[in-house]
Amino acid sequence: MKFVDEFRDVELARAVVSRIHRKSSRHIRLMEFCGGHTVTIMKHGIRQLLPPTVEMLSGPGCPVCVTANQDLDRAIALAREPGVIIATFGDMLKVPGSHSSLQRVRADGADIRIVYSTLDALHIARQNRDKSVVFIGIGFETTAPTIAASILEAEEEGITNYHVLSLHKLCPPVIKALLDSGEVRLDGLICPGHVSAIIGSRPWEFVARDYGIGCVVSGFEPLDVLQSVEMLVDQLERGEPRVEIAYRRGVRPEGNLRAQELMNAIFEPSAANWRGMGVVPGSGLKLNKRYQRFDAQLAFEIDPGPTVEPKGCICGDILRGVKTPLDCKLFRGACTPEHPVGPCMVSSEGSCAGYYHYGTV
Ligand code: SF4
Repeated sequence: MKFVDEFRDVELARAVVSRIHRKSSRHIRLMEFCGGHTVTIMKHGIRQLLPPTVEMLSGPGCPVCVTANQDLDRAIALAREPGVIIATFGDMLKVPGSHSSLQRVRADGADIRIVYSTLDALHIARQNRDKSVVFIGIGFETTAPTIAASILEAEEEGITNYHVLSLHKLCPPVIKALLDSGEVRLDGLICPGHVSAIIGSRPWEFVARDYGIGCVVSGFEPLDVLQSVEMLVDQLERGEPRVEIAYRRGVRPEGNLRAQELMNAIFEPSAANWRGMGVVPGSGLKLNKRYQRFDAQLAFEIDPGPTVEPKGCICGDILRGVKTPLDCKLFRGACTPEHPVGPCMVSSEGSCAGYYHYGTV
């Protein structure tokens, strides 16, 4: 299996679905952590293919969606600072903050540029030595090493006008917080493939060991997800929850040691504010002492003003897996991808956008 088409093979998918139906004898609840998995599940109708015994919930794994309004307001306040160029991934632009959005302040004249990598942001800094370039660092363990690499490069080249607003989040601590809250009962977790490519499968072991919840690290094609569901059904039918890797072409138990080394050289764990979860200790990354001069939070006095949550939006509940977009009164009415009220309708990995584009079952 080397090519994408093979991971979308209809006959193979039918065979896996039929095995899941045959093997699944008791009701189980599985959560896909990652927004990328949510999109695959919605786009390919995977929920509808599964037996009624297998219930699927979406989790908090969309980096844009989990960025708290307070942090987004900080980014917007920074964009209004004279002499600041904001570099950001495109998904962040339309997310409504408390009083505005990056898109709106850009329309008002702020210099906000969409980039596809941290190296693009560094390039902007090189070309605009008289301005401060702030990269909005959102994402999980997957993107943090690339930001670490950009900071090392900035240091090597003596670039002093490059800063990072680090809103990075770490996935295992938030899953622990979610499980400790007791709000959601889970039997199995489809663990994020891209995050696990960096951290490996070992950081998920506490989920199986301490909570008795099966874990399978999954890729993002439909057959990847179906295979992961089958592996979880197998584990749970046997009563042996453990950590397994279905995404072997991308993930090793130890992860990517070079990427971890990079991350650890630049960042240290910190508390992070998650939409829907609040502040979770140890679930974020901040620049360590040696690289503090690149930290936008320290380089600028930022007053984002009071935080206001979007009225009627239940993104927080959806991200915790306790509600679905269908429970939101604004879904498809006041809230659409053209006029989003909350981030889950903006992001390409958001549950509300997934339900909107691919169906609502
Ligand atoms: Fe928020 Fe819109 Fe989703 Fe409702 S449909 S939860 S308002 S993003």
